[in-house]
Amino acid sequence: MKSDGGKNEEKTARKGHNNAQKAGATLRNWLAHLEQYDRLAIARPEVKLEFELAAIASTLDGRKATFFPRPGGHNIPIVSGIVSQRDWIADALDVPPEKLVSAFKQAASNPLPCKFVSDAPCQAELIAEPELLRDLPIPVHNELDNGPYITAGLIIVRNPATGIQNVAIVRMQVVGPRRIGALLLPRHTMAFMDIAEQAGHDLPCAIVIGASPAELLASQAIAPINCDELEIAGALLGEPLEVTRCKSSDLHVPAGAEIILEGRLLAGQRAPEGPFGEFTQYYGASPASHVVEIDVITHRQNPIYHTIIGGGLEHLMLGCIPREATILESIQRHFPNVVDVALSLGGVCRYHLHVQMKPRADGEAKNVIMAAFAAHYDIKQVIVVDADVDVHDPKEVEWAVATRFQASRDLVVVLDAQGSKLDPSTRNGVGSKMGLDATVPIALRDSEFKRISIPGMDRLDIDAAIDASAQIEDYLVPTP
Ligand code: MN
Repeated sequence: MKSDGGKNEEKTARKGHNNAQKAGATLRNWLAHLEQYDRLAIARPEVKLEFELAAIASTLDGRKATFFPRPGGHNIPIVSGIVSQRDWIADALDVPPEKLVSAFKQAASNPLPCKFVSDAPCQAELIAEPELLRDLPIPVHNELDNGPYITAGLIIVRNPATGIQNVAIVRMQVVGPRRIGALLLPRHTMAFMDIAEQAGHDLPCAIVIGASPAELLASQAIAPINCDELEIAGALLGEPLEVTRCKSSDLHVPAGAEIILEGRLLAGQRAPEGPFGEFTQYYGASPASHVVEIDVITHRQNPIYHTIIGGGLEHLMLGCIPREATILESIQRHFPNVVDVALSLGGVCRYHLHVQMKPRADGEAKNVIMAAFAAHYDIKQVIVVDADVDVHDPKEVEWAVATRFQASRDLVVVLDAQGSKLDPSTRNGVGSKMGLDATVPIALRDSEFKRISIPGMDRLDIDAAIDASAQIEDYLVPTP
């Protein structure tokens, strides 16, 4: 199914709606789908785990996912770059690309309870005395990364107070044969760990490697603390996600995952971790990350290991779609005339937001700018455009700024607000916000700001208009 046939099918990759399992339901389904549509490259065996694997995957990033047989001589193959494009993610969830954000928004607000199964592929084999670097092929990606990192591990913990699970992706450095330094952000995983630690207990955790596209994406939802993100994965797939119980704890993990590390976040333990190449394209280090001790590893027969290259498209896109959904929902609560939002790639899918709206009153775009800043503290630049501008096309957005924006009247600056600590231009996360109103004054829409257009161009059949068999000599008069 590979070869050039794939290219022709590229545009029609999305299947019609049916009741079959969606392509993004398991990693294996998804790899088969990627190969079918010529989006999967297979590297020569035995690529080096340090840098070489990342160099190959990054070179192909956004064009093809890469599968690495016997990486560093290890039996377990690695895959990377599996969700590096917006339309791939749409395919995985079987929705049209333009509906992706609204589909995610819908799933995040309507989680689907999981289905428990006792016999799970992810527990086909068990390693009772695990040793991380012996049992798993864990690569090193960027130049100054401080050793091998697990970068595509979903960490699952349970709230000691309510029993509700949380799912997140955190960066995890291997710091001992069975120990990991894990950078928890001040969100739900850390809140649950705080509760356990105050009671003097370790917090059981499971680290899921080789999760499905739906699970990876769901883990990045900006969901309430009492939401188990695995239920969002079920909602994205349109059927309850099958989960099973860990061997050493009562945590529930995706039954179809490739590899599960079972362990504990250790009470009272911290270790330095990093530097590590982040989505900002810079390195981040932590003087006191949490520590995980691994007790047991279970895995599928012939498991596949997934790694995300720090700063690559896959890293950016996984943060992008769930954030866009949350931000859109937040702004639309006050401005239903906001149509779409996009976090730009150049803005590392976190910092720069494009907003498309249908202004009802002059000045309203500036209110939308303030709503966008309030929606997430990471956002540092907002550009608001009219409905005729495609927010997913950076050239169109720049055109709107070039022709519809005047800094003297359309610029909003907020000094010294909370921003992203990973943005090195801030002072420990304190930075300034900039909003650009690139919408047209309502009274001038059909006069000064009337866009040029060529009548009939939108209905033109270019193949019928072009004579493919003609040559220029047919029409040039020969010189005597
Ligand atoms: Mn959560």
